[in-house]
Amino acid sequence: MEKIKDLIEKKVFNTPFIDTHEHLIDECERLDCIKPIIPCDDWALLLNLYFSFDLISAGISKEQIDCLFSNRVNPNNKWGILKEYWPHLKNTTSGIVFRHTIKRLYEIDDISGDNIRELQNRYEQTRRKGFYKYIIQDVANITHCHVNSPNIACKKSESPDLLLQDIGLNGLIQVAINGYSVPGNFQINSLSDWHALIDWWFSEYGKNAKAVKIGNAYFRKLDFERTEANEVEKIFLKKIKLQVNSPEEDKKLQDHLFWYSVDKATEYGLPVKLHTGQWAMNNVMNMRWVKDNPSDCASLCRNSPDTKFIFFHLCYPHYEEMLSLAKNYANAYVDMCWSWSMNPLAAKDFLKKFILAVPNNKIFTFGGDDKIVENVIGHAFVARKGIAQSLTELVTENWITMSDALDLTDDLMYKNAEKTFNK
Ligand SMILES: [Zn+2]
Repeated sequence: MEKIKDLIEKKVFNTPFIDTHEHLIDECERLDCIKPIIPCDDWALLLNLYFSFDLISAGISKEQIDCLFSNRVNPNNKWGILKEYWPHLKNTTSGIVFRHTIKRLYEIDDISGDNIRELQNRYEQTRRKGFYKYIIQDVANITHCHVNSPNIACKKSESPDLLLQDIGLNGLIQVAINGYSVPGNFQINSLSDWHALIDWWFSEYGKNAKAVKIGNAYFRKLDFERTEANEVEKIFLKKIKLQVNSPEEDKKLQDHLFWYSVDKATEYGLPVKLHTGQWAMNNVMNMRWVKDNPSDCASLCRNSPDTKFIFFHLCYPHYEEMLSLAKNYANAYVDMCWSWSMNPLAAKDFLKKFILAVPNNKIFTFGGDDKIVENVIGHAFVARKGIAQSLTELVTENWITMSDALDLTDDLMYKNAEKTFNK
């Protein structure tokens, strides 16, 4: 038993990941502390995404959160804000991600009032030109990342071999007229102008992008129905004149733009990555919509058999349904990004079942889904730990052999991604 565990762990920890989902800005933007993505430039920044949502869930006040991530509060005083909540969060996976990150990167075993100055020093010493490559490739053993940029639908990264870009379609589907989706030189007066805008993003970036990313599950059900342009032209005009549409009208318009964009992605050979399941952020998740995600996803797969749909986050907590979906539909793939840091035991359970139930070429096992590069170290650690456990258990429970487990590791960690995203 011990030998099997050691051998598999050694293989998994020495195998590079292709990381199929992050929200990283470029290194130069991070060093410039662009707002609002980088609210402060100290050690607390590492807690600024998933950990902060858990802090809110634990009951921290808005004032305390604002202080924790403020540029105006002395970093040495920030432990005073965190310490009340730390005992309740240090054993959640978002706490484990942070602890492992500071251990690997700064050689600090655990945060306390005694080592905040040291933590801040090490943060500053590390956050220097070249630290992205050092963290991603040298420390986290990741070949490259797929990036869904948080500040623009798509761009040419300053590190195109390290941060490969997806095209973010949320704003184009929701008709959000802002800098994220609409470059300054675009005049929008009609639905055909909007179609031309979508076409432009694809002609500009479709050749180099790895996929498109759709996160609209945060705002609606995934029941996108095919809708003709002439059915939504008037609704579109009302939308751009900032007149109020009914929820049914808004849905219809989004349905049309969703399929317009998805058909375009399919034409360009780009897989379509979709958020499903658990929502990040607090106190708004519509669990009824979430529950319907798997059956809505099945309709999407039926509706467009030539499109490769990649479903994110195991549709947590409804992951059994996603096994059923991926087993049945040839165009349904699963990306385990964020899953290991959300609920690693559910992710381990899912991966074991996936290996035994679904053809193993349709899964990608890692994405930190983070905007702070340092955290990728902690996310990759919990993912590798979970993958190694899944494989070890399958071998010791006599489902697969040791050599099958070792072979499978390469497919799960990078080969599947290499093949699927190599258009
Ligand atoms: Zn994401």
